[in-house]
Formats: sequence, structure tokens, C-alpha cells
Amino acid sequence: MTVLVINAGSSSLKYQLVNPTTGESNASGLVERIGEETAMLKHEHEGEEYRLERHIEDHEVALKLVLDMFNKYGPVLKEASIEAVGHRVVQGGKYFDGPALVTDEVSERIRTLIPLAPLHNGGNLKGIEVARELLPEVPHVVVFDTAFFQRLPAEASTYALKKEVAEKYGIYRYGAHGTSHLYVSKQVAELTGKTDLKQIVMHLGNGASVSAVKNGRALDTSMGLTPLEGLVMGTRTGDIDPAAVFHLQRNAGMDVEEVDHLFNKESGLKGLSGFNDMRTVRELADKGDEDARLALDVALHRLQKYVGAYTAVLGGLDAITFTAGIGENDSDLRRELCERLAYTGIELDLEKNEVRSKQARCISTPNSKVQVWVVPTNEELEIARQAMTLV
Ligand code: ADP
Repeated sequence: MTVLVINAGSSSLKYQLVNPTTGESNASGLVERIGEETAMLKHEHEGEEYRLERHIEDHEVALKLVLDMFNKYGPVLKEASIEAVGHRVVQGGKYFDGPALVTDEVSERIRTLIPLAPLHNGGNLKGIEVARELLPEVPHVVVFDTAFFQRLPAEASTYALKKEVAEKYGIYRYGAHGTSHLYVSKQVAELTGKTDLKQIVMHLGNGASVSAVKNGRALDTSMGLTPLEGLVMGTRTGDIDPAAVFHLQRNAGMDVEEVDHLFNKESGLKGLSGFNDMRTVRELADKGDEDARLALDVALHRLQKYVGAYTAVLGGLDAITFTAGIGENDSDLRRELCERLAYTGIELDLEKNEVRSKQARCISTPNSKVQVWVVPTNEELEIARQAMTLV
């Protein structure tokens, strides 16, 4: 039994064949640069990698080529007993608080949400449309990045913006990375054997977000109307005074697109240090580069503030968890943050912190007042599992 998980972007398409019970994946791949002169398709099966480089006009051609790859290099889809196709969709607005079986009505809903996620929902929808056409015999399920945060308390999802404007244009905190925050917070609850847990999950990748989760329910999260809000990210500012936008428009003559690009693509670690990759920033800081050190400190300060704020929102704190590229791998950052949180009684086990592993693990001492976890995220597995709840 397997689920084909599809994550279609505006010019890319990632896929993975996942066993929702064991979590094993026996094939995965990626098409990049769809629509450009030369696109690239990479298909992996049983440790072998197969590549194809050619012009790929659109998502339909891309998915047809992917299906060819399965037939040529395996596993043959007819024999893989695909029970469902699970699609990642970034923005579910206020309509979806869980997975949904794809119908024409659901597709239409996703289309109406494109203005809220112009970089994402359009590509997601294309993926759904062509997959439904090419794989009509299996049910298709959509899993939304925002679903876990759909039931945030109103006081956390509401911006203090003129009510009529917020309602008309749908300006609320929707959050993002919800599938990861849900997967990781469930894992921590399972591993600690406690469901009544006050926990903070930090998804620290190129995009980064933090959430406060109490007894399995998200009470707050750092990404907002879009993934721009919150933590310092690879290329995004995270929190910034919105008046900076007016200031740049009035004084630098920048238009909306230019400010959007500046805040989303040229800021964050990259804007401060010249590099968005945390490993490079760390290397430079270790060599005495002051810009890189400041970039790290700004990122750490922001995280420290969020953990403090969310501890207050939760009314206490039982566990903090690191996940995604930086969270799972960067032991220096974990140590530096825990040093800043020493006042909470957090005690990191420095040896355990250095162990590199693909397994979920507790890295605090037995005496620590707050448990510290590293839990590798697995959004594809969570999508596969959620898809199976509907078929
Ligand atoms: P995304 O999925 O948002 O593109 P990832 O979750 O893959 O991002 O995380 C990418 C980030 O993880 C990069 O900043 C990269 O430098 C960082 N990273 C990966 N490995 C390490 C490591 N060993 N030490 C520090 N940072 C790491």
C-alpha cells in the first residue's frame, strides 16, 4: 500500500511514493525549471538516480514524463498499489482545517485562494489538475500547509487592522509549515507519552517558523498572512515594521514588486551577511566576520523573543523541539539558543546535542526543567497519512 505525494510549485514538481504505515519511501523525484529552456527531471529508486534534461513545456508534460520514469525505471505504478495521491497545497484560507478529497468544488476553492498565496497555490492547483487527469482511477486528497493553524484562537489569528478591510481582503494569520508543526508536535507527544503538553516547535530551514502547541492544539505561530512574518530566514526579513514599506516607497522610489522582492529574496541572513546558507554564515562568523556574527545574533535574538512570548502564551513550557535543515543539524545554534534560555531551567546535554542522527532524540539532561528535542520532520509522510484518513 502506497500514497503518491505530490508537491507542485510554480515551476517545479516534487514527488514521493510513501508507505503511510511504515513511512518508507521507495521512489522519489523532482522536476525543476518547468517552462524554461531546459528543465531537469531526477528520479530515484532503490538507491539509483535517473536524470533527464530537456525542455518541459508545462506541468502536464512534466507529470507524463514522471509517469514514464516510473514505468521505465520502477517501481511500476500498477504494481505499487497506490491507494491515493496526496497533494500539498500551501494556502487553505479559512475554509480547510484538515485534508479534503479533491472535487471540482475543492479545486475551485483553491483557485479562489490564489491571491493569498500567489507564488504557491497556482502551481499546487496545476499539479492537482494534471494528476487527476492522468491518474483518474485513484482518489486525490489535498493537505493544506495552513490547516493545523486554522483553529488558532481568534486573538492570535486576528490582526489589529480595520475590521472591514481585513474581512474584505482576508487579512488574517494563516501560518505556514503547518504539516511539519503538526507532524513534529505529535511525535513529541508520542515520545514523551504525554498529550497534555505545552510545547514550542521550531521549524528552522531556509524558511523558518515557530509555533506554540498546547495539548495538541496550535495557540500561535510566527508566519502570518504569508510566510514573510516571524523569524529571520534565509532570505526573508521576518518581522519588520510595516512602515519600512511606506518609507522605501516614498524615499527610495521602490514599487510594490521591488519591496516584495527585497523583503522575500534579498533580506534575512543573506541581506545581513551576503549568504543565505546557514553553514556559510556560521563558517564566516567563526572566522571573525562581523556581519555574519550579527546575522546569527539577530536570528537568535528573534528566536529567543518568540520562545519567551510563546512560553507566556502557553502559561509554561514542557518541551522545545528543533526541526528542518538548521534545527536538525546545527548543534551550535541549538546550544546558543539554550544558553539564552538558561533562565527557564533548560539544561542541554552537550554531548547528546553533538550526536548526528536521522532519529528523533531528546538532547536535554534528566534535570532539565524543559525537555529539548530534535525531531526530523517528514511532511511527505504526514501528507500520506492524512490522505489515507479520507480513502
Ligand atoms: P527548505 O526546505 O526551507 O529549503 P531546509 O529545511 O532544507 O530548507 O534547510 C536548509 C538550511 O539548513 C540551510 O540554511 C542549510 O545551511 C541548513 N543546514 C543543513 N545542514 C546543516 C548543518 N550541518 N549545519 C548547519 N546548517 C545546516
